[in-house]
Amino acid sequence: MITVLARGHFSVIGLDSSFANFAICDQMSSRVNTEEIEVECPFCGETFSIVVDTSIESQQYVEDCYVCCRPILFRVNCAENEEPQVNAERS
Ligand SMILES: [Zn+2]
Repeated sequence: MITVLARGHFSVIGLDSSFANFAICDQMSSRVNTEEIEVECPFCGETFSIVVDTSIESQQYVEDCYVCCRPILFRVNCAENEEPQVNAERS
């Protein structure tokens, strides 16, 4: 009986420390500059939004269309104090 109570106590401590970790993660993620940009799929023409990391000046990556699942090549340019430019091409 005493052992069971002790285990219960330990698990409560474990929960508390993981809540503290979540709080730290939230603070870190708010420092990252991300922006949601609407793009048009070059294959099916559907528009959907992607999340762009605007702290990177120039980047390109391939991501599958959320609608037709074909690979789209995204070219993202983020000049300082300007709207990010996103180019979606068939890869
Ligand atoms: Zn598509």
